[in-house]
Amino acid sequence: MAPKQEFKTTAMFKQLMSQYYAQGVEARRKNIPVAWVTAVFPVEILYAAEVFPYYPENFGALAAARKIAHDLSELAEAKGYFYDLCGYARCGIGDAYAQEHPVGEIERPDIIFCCNTQCGSLPKWFEAASRFYNAPYFLLDAPLIEDAWEEQVKKYFIKQLEEMIDFLEQSTGKAFDYNRLVRVLDLSNEACRLWNEILDTAALKPAPFGFFDACFHMAPIVTWRGTEEAVTYYRALKEELDERIKKGIYAIPNERYKIYWDHIPVWPRLRWFADLFAEHGALVVVSQYTHSWAYNFDPSNPLESLADNYLKSFVNRSFDKRIDLKINFMKKYNVDGFVLFSNRSCKPNAFGLYDKSNVIKNVTGLPGVVFEADMSDLRFFSEEQVRSKIEVFVEQLKER
Ligand code: SF4
Repeated sequence: MAPKQEFKTTAMFKQLMSQYYAQGVEARRKNIPVAWVTAVFPVEILYAAEVFPYYPENFGALAAARKIAHDLSELAEAKGYFYDLCGYARCGIGDAYAQEHPVGEIERPDIIFCCNTQCGSLPKWFEAASRFYNAPYFLLDAPLIEDAWEEQVKKYFIKQLEEMIDFLEQSTGKAFDYNRLVRVLDLSNEACRLWNEILDTAALKPAPFGFFDACFHMAPIVTWRGTEEAVTYYRALKEELDERIKKGIYAIPNERYKIYWDHIPVWPRLRWFADLFAEHGALVVVSQYTHSWAYNFDPSNPLESLADNYLKSFVNRSFDKRIDLKINFMKKYNVDGFVLFSNRSCKPNAFGLYDKSNVIKNVTGLPGVVFEADMSDLRFFSEEQVRSKIEVFVEQLKER
């Protein structure tokens, strides 16, 4: 396969992410608290409080993409953590005990914030980290949203946001600035809008951008959401994509099929999967995962709006609602088939995938496949088995 034409914004991306990690070091020097935070968390409040938010899940994904998750995991396992735990947690815990840090050392937290919308692993991992680093821990509890939206749940969440702001005021010694929160929400809105416009270019046929590109370019929407930096970056990426569309530069040559992917990628095999699909003229164009950051806040009603957006995230929804959301994406991107990744690390997202696959096939009539592996740990990845499953699936696409 011809080498892919690299995005010009890749250089900007690298510079931006180095700047992000350097800010953590700088925060320490200036006595600005470093706060651990989960990916689906109202980080806008932390940016407004001028605390440095650090994402241990992002560290896990980086370690996995650089193929060292296995080594870090073994260090965690040597301390009694089981290899069935989430791979991000094993990477973070392993690195805390490591003597060498090939992807940089996981940042030591001064305070820890966790929202349990995503899973039960993060609250336990962060609780263990709170003991290990002796850092105070704030758990933001998000009740599951079934199909009906309960006002009581929203009130409960808003009350906790207020408590969190009190906790931040005590930790930083500074009064919380609600005007700054409004500015941060505006910036977050703009970055999310641009990010979702970028993702939507994958609906074009042929498309200039696919899911595996999104996996690379998503780090700023996670880490820098709520800042000018994220807006500047996604504006540049969007301009580059518009230029590529004009010049006819596409994600893969000869795109024939569009594929839906659920949910996280297999980080150490990102390129392998992209090439495997491309060999057959298939482009993975959409996943619920990269669309997680589709927030739209009402800055005139900040706390209520934060509650609305973060509680309703797909990771906090019922079985049926998640299926509906997947089917909506499949329709919107006009896909020809779907691949559901049963991720050993991520039980809440792997749960019921075979049943989901059956429902989706019945409703849409699309071919689909479920494969099992781990998002970070290659000990649980059988290249041969996965390849043969994907190839059978591709044959079904061709027969349609
Ligand atoms: S991958 Fe799954 S289990 Fe791990 S932190 Fe993310 S949501 Fe939780």
